[in-house]
Amino acid sequence: MPIIGGAMVPHPPLILPGVGKGAEAQIAKTTAAFEQVAARVHGLKPDTVVITTPHSVMYQDYLHISGGQSARGDFRRFGAGQEAFHVAYDQALAMRIGELAQAARIPAGIKGERDPALDHGFMVPLHFLRQAMGSPWPCQFLRIGLSGLSFETHYRLGMVIKDAAGQLGRRVFLVASGDLSHYGRADGPYGFRPEGPEYDRRIMDIMGRAAFDELLALPEKFCEQAGECGQRSFLILAGALDGQKVRAEALSYEGVTGVGYGVSMFTPEGPDATRHFVKREEE
Ligand SMILES: [Zn+2]
Repeated sequence: MPIIGGAMVPHPPLILPGVGKGAEAQIAKTTAAFEQVAARVHGLKPDTVVITTPHSVMYQDYLHISGGQSARGDFRRFGAGQEAFHVAYDQALAMRIGELAQAARIPAGIKGERDPALDHGFMVPLHFLRQAMGSPWPCQFLRIGLSGLSFETHYRLGMVIKDAAGQLGRRVFLVASGDLSHYGRADGPYGFRPEGPEYDRRIMDIMGRAAFDELLALPEKFCEQAGECGQRSFLILAGALDGQKVRAEALSYEGVTGVGYGVSMFTPEGPDATRHFVKREEE
């Protein structure tokens, strides 16, 4: 099974004690769920952890995959330069995803790099993975950004990731990094919109059932109004589990800061012909 599991996780920098300096206590449930996910990823012994992040370079019409041998990043921007990370990229997987994406007419690849430094959408999950896995890393990584392209295109990219992993015989765990709504509370940093809590409720329900057809069907306008961050990230994860029976576990949800943080874990349990939610393009 090329995709050995997946997780939906948020990426608040303040969850790192070095950044939060105590403020992380208000999202302790998210921390506990994150630690549980990281321990399980470690136990699955992935060859490569693919992390999709909304905060890498983002183009309207192109999905950027970070290239090169390795990359570094730190939380200096968030007042914690000592929180620094270095990962090796799975270059063969990046190349194969690019080739298969091209064949499937999905505009994705390693072109268009602007800032090779790791972003917080990538590094927050990395923080928990490093705690669980120790160093040196027992696996390689891949960083994939999002785009303004359709929900379906992001789902299709997930299908391509699965195919590429299969062709290379990689055991890949996919982490979909993404916060939920930014409009959860009137006293939050972005204020309140009714779509905010509604989006969070629907996502936790949809992801808790791995109802990826419903994830694809959410109206884009509604998601935009809710100020979502991770919708397209979650769609790539869904696509990577296309055609699989999936055991879904909603591990935690918190909205105390006005931004929604959801953690869910997904375990594929074998082929399921009823779960192809997007038709493959005819050759
Ligand atoms: Zn974000």
